[in-house]
Formats: sequence, C-alpha cells, structure tokens
Amino acid sequence: MNQVYLFSSFASIKRKNDCPVCDNQTGALVGQINYIGLEKYNMVQCATCGLVNCDPLPTGEVTQKGCDLLYRMQQNTNTHQKIVKGFKRSYRRGGYFARNHLANIFDKNTPLKILEVGAGDGYFSQGIANYYKKSHITYMDIVEDLLTYYKEHFTCKTISSDLKNVLSSGKYDLIIARDLVEHLINPLDFFKMASEVLDKDGLIFFITPNGREDFWHCNQRFIKRNEALLLHLNHFNYYLPETLDLLLSKTGFAKEKAFKFGLKRYRQGCGHQAMNDFYEQVMPDTVQGFLNTKPIHECFKHDFKQIVSSLLHGNTWVAKIYSTLADREREVVDYFAPMGHEFFVIARKIK
Ligand SMILES: [Zn+2]
Repeated sequence: MNQVYLFSSFASIKRKNDCPVCDNQTGALVGQINYIGLEKYNMVQCATCGLVNCDPLPTGEVTQKGCDLLYRMQQNTNTHQKIVKGFKRSYRRGGYFARNHLANIFDKNTPLKILEVGAGDGYFSQGIANYYKKSHITYMDIVEDLLTYYKEHFTCKTISSDLKNVLSSGKYDLIIARDLVEHLINPLDFFKMASEVLDKDGLIFFITPNGREDFWHCNQRFIKRNEALLLHLNHFNYYLPETLDLLLSKTGFAKEKAFKFGLKRYRQGCGHQAMNDFYEQVMPDTVQGFLNTKPIHECFKHDFKQIVSSLLHGNTWVAKIYSTLADREREVVDYFAPMGHEFFVIARKIK
C-alpha cells in the first residue's frame, strides 16, 4: 500500500477502541471534537490505513440523538420551498446517475432491487426508479422518524438500522450510501453488511468527503490553538484513498469507477494551506430547543405526485441536457489526488 498522508500530531496514544479498519491499538492524536455538546472525542489517525476517527467510538445512543438533532437543525431552519427544491434536485440527480452510471450495467427493464442507506429525503432512489420503472426500493435509517416519512410518501420497504433486519430482508443489486460512511460508528461493519446482502456482482455506490480536506480545519485548530472543533455535522470518519481501498478489498469489493470531484470550497489551497485565523466557535443555543421542534416527517410532508409532475425529468432531450449541465460531477480529479471535495465510488462485489 502507498504511504498514507499523515496529519500533524504531537503525540502517539494508546487507543480506547482499536482502528475499526485494521485493528491497530495505537494511533496519532491529530485533533479533538466536541460533538454539539453531546460528547467529546479524541480524533486519532491510524498510520497503517490512514483513517482518522473518533476515539472512543461513539455509542449508538449518542449517534442516534446527534443524527436526529442534526436533521432537525437543518430542516427546521429551512423554508418549505427550499426543502421542496432539495427534493427535486435529489430526484434529478438520481435520474442522471441511472442514465450515466447504471445504464451500461443494468438493462432498463431490470427489476433492480435497491437498498438506500441514510437516504435523506429519499428522492435519489426515486429518480433512479423513474428510469428503472420495475425497481424495488428499500430505505434503511437509524432515525425512526425518517422511516415514517418514507412509508407515508413512497412505495417502498423500510428497515431500521439493525443488522438482523437487513440480513433477513433479502438480496439487493445496488446499495446506495450517499454521504453516509463518514457518519458510521464502524465502517468495516457497514461494508461487511453491504457485501453480505448484495447479490452476486451487486454494486455499492457511495460518495463521501475527501478526509484530507474535511479534517484539515480540525487538525489545524488542534495543532495551533489546542482546541476541540465544535462538530455540527456528525462526521466521525475521515478517509484517504488508501483507507477506502483497504475497506473495499477487506470486504470483497473491487472498484468499477472511482474519482474525486468538486474543488469549489478550497480552489486555491486544495484544503491544505496553513490556517492562522480561526473563527470563535459558538455552541448553538438552540441545540436543546431543537429537540422540541417539529419531527422530520412533518417538515418533509408533501405530495409526491405534485413534486414529480412539476419537474423537468424523464428522458426528454430537454431534461437530459438540463440535467447534464446541472447534475454532473464537477471538477473531476484523480481518485488519489490530494485535492477534490468528495470521493465518488462505484464498487462491485467480487467475492
Ligand atoms: Zn487502520
């Protein structure tokens, strides 16, 4: 394996939990996070696989609370108009993904069995189903309230994030995990599960932030100010290309298509320029208050048919051109390049 990129660190420490990818018991202390007041963690980098993750691993209880809180903070500050706009974008992107990344793999008439994990508004899979009309969609999530929302709005199955439930739910052709693997407690367990529930030659598709950019701020704040980063987004894992490769090969996957995209955020420094100015971190005083806000299934309440009929979609040439311009992955760079905002990976089950 390539030598992985190592973040700055003052100390090597004995870990409370071993590296979830390669079981190393020590690692470099590269940062600290304060998970919106719920918990504090050391951020430790494994020198073997390059993974930066929380030590100790967050518990299921904290994660569930944090996810629910995060959703509510996002959705309750959004207008309904903005929320609906997001639905339409996800739907179009699902359609774009089907036409550009799946169409040469699965025939249009395939009754695709799709499992989308951490599906958010759920519209990405619905967009795929607009191309693969015979597909079956199952949503899996840790937030029960989201499962209620899916059941109320779509023709689908739902599974709570329980390993037993998913293993007994049947086999799938495609697993979708967009912006999910950075949130997991144990990424190796997730990929093992994915491999187990995929049919022979099944595919997993995921996008996840480039750890080198995503963790940069936390590391700089720790090294230069000895401060924990106030974590609003619950990113518990930060991946390098080599970390993802090891995860995939350990769980029986081979990459079909893999690149990074998006230079928007750190066009100049690729996210790796020394930071000297740090904004003051303020704990949102609304954190506690948000627990009393509207649940997600109410924020997301809408009429599916109305959304879909008001949208440029399907396979008309106007829709295809528009979607190609709006939904393509922008500023694509090599998978191993240090820059790029997110990884895009489609991997095939080979074992
Ligand atoms: Zn490791």
